[in-house]
Amino acid sequence: MIKRAIVWFTTDLRLHDNETLVRAIQENDEIIPVYCFDDAFFNETAFGQKRIGTFRATFLLEALSDLKAQLQALGSDLLILRGDTIALLCGLAQEFGVTSIYTKQHVSSEEISKLKELRNRFTLQGGKVNTCQTHGLYNKQDFPFSLRELPDTFTVFRKKIERITPIRSALKSPSVVTSPLLPSSDLPTLKELHLEEKTADKRAVLAFKGGEKAGLARLRYYFEESRCISQYKETRNGMVGGDYSSKFSVWLALGCLSARQIYQELQTYEDTIEANESTYWLYFELLWRDYFYFVMEKYNPAFFLKGGIKNNIPQKNIHNKALFEKWKNGQTGNNFIDANMLELKYTGFMSNRGRQNVASYLCNDLHLDWRYGAAYFEEQLLDYDVHSNWGNWAYLAGVGNDPRENRYFSIEKQAKTYDTHQEFRKLWLKKKS
Ligand SMILES: Cc1cc2nc3c(=O)[nH]c(=O)nc-3n(C[C@H](O)[C@H](O)[C@H](O)COP(=O)(O)OP(=O)(O)OC[C@H]3O[C@@H](n4cnc5c(N)ncnc54)[C@H](O)[C@@H]3O)c2cc1C
Repeated sequence: MIKRAIVWFTTDLRLHDNETLVRAIQENDEIIPVYCFDDAFFNETAFGQKRIGTFRATFLLEALSDLKAQLQALGSDLLILRGDTIALLCGLAQEFGVTSIYTKQHVSSEEISKLKELRNRFTLQGGKVNTCQTHGLYNKQDFPFSLRELPDTFTVFRKKIERITPIRSALKSPSVVTSPLLPSSDLPTLKELHLEEKTADKRAVLAFKGGEKAGLARLRYYFEESRCISQYKETRNGMVGGDYSSKFSVWLALGCLSARQIYQELQTYEDTIEANESTYWLYFELLWRDYFYFVMEKYNPAFFLKGGIKNNIPQKNIHNKALFEKWKNGQTGNNFIDANMLELKYTGFMSNRGRQNVASYLCNDLHLDWRYGAAYFEEQLLDYDVHSNWGNWAYLAGVGNDPRENRYFSIEKQAKTYDTHQEFRKLWLKKKS
């Protein structure tokens, strides 16, 4: 009897270093690659924002189109479904006689409940759900401590693992994918997803294009072609243009790039071109990404509560719709904050320096509920990643993993230091082009 499995793609839209896909191929005769647009995905959040806005949805559609074409070239396809994910997957499994479903291991609360629901229903059908850790650099099984013992500060975490815990090698892309004859399925349009088209803003740091191919091309550009990586530590606090930082986050968020693949290329760069503080610093930042993933696994769902993991409810911070709208639309009157918020509104991207400042401003100057800010980022950011977004927001709101109490950014000082000649503010505060 033919052994068939479904590979349910979520935020792992790639062929390279995708253990979920590789395992499914190794353990089965035929696989059915699937992506589902879940109905709930397009509902508003509790904070009145969409879960996904036009920028990320456009990038997602491009990424899916790329993955579909790549799978077709290997003899398979990507089945695009829309509706109630669990019912669709279980129905598909029944139709094709599938006995296993393979998917990425998620750690945030909503995704965990979905997985649980899938496991419960699919087990009743006699099937098995297998999950793989394809998110970051590390697998938690390789740590010298349990998840419960995961340190609450990044520095302690880093010192416990770096140079001690090995990073597993990135897996190669499969060269053939065998599938049964699949029905044809098309990607939805933005309109069908109830989202409006937006024209590209010429001031954007990059013309981001979704997909594994574009992600790998960016990796090649940043390392081999431009060698920008060699100056990363000096430039990473920049705010204008494509090269001050890697911009890998946008592809990492949907899994078009794997963190381990980046790390592997980084090692090659260090071995063949140069190893310096900048090359180390990229690893350091990718480690932050991993850290927020594991912290969410440890504390979730406390991460989404106003008092965060510290259960420290900020008394002064309450929602004020009028002030919040001004912050969102770049109309606070503080030109550094406004310029950053306009960049986010018109392009879906903001530098790390900008994000720290606008988040601090919302919490410490406007005294608003930080979760509304995080929810707006969720809708707007091209690189939205549940762990990094909510983790960084909680950190800046003083309810997360920041060991320092009352961290405060003087916006004026930050603007002077990081936008000394007002290049960034001039770019964004002039009329939209
Ligand atoms: C309030 C706030 C919200 C944020 N929301 C997100 C989010 O939704 N998604 C997201 O990927 N990052 C988020 N970040 C982290 C960081 O701002 C972005 O990862 C970074 O700006 C992306 O640009 P880059 O890829 O050029 O970064 P680079 O400077 O080139 O860094 C390389 C990679 O390291 C990782 N990284 C860097 N800084 C951080 C950090 N502080 N936390 C976690 N990972 C980091 C990212 O994967 C990034 O791609 C947020 C930061 C703040 C302060």
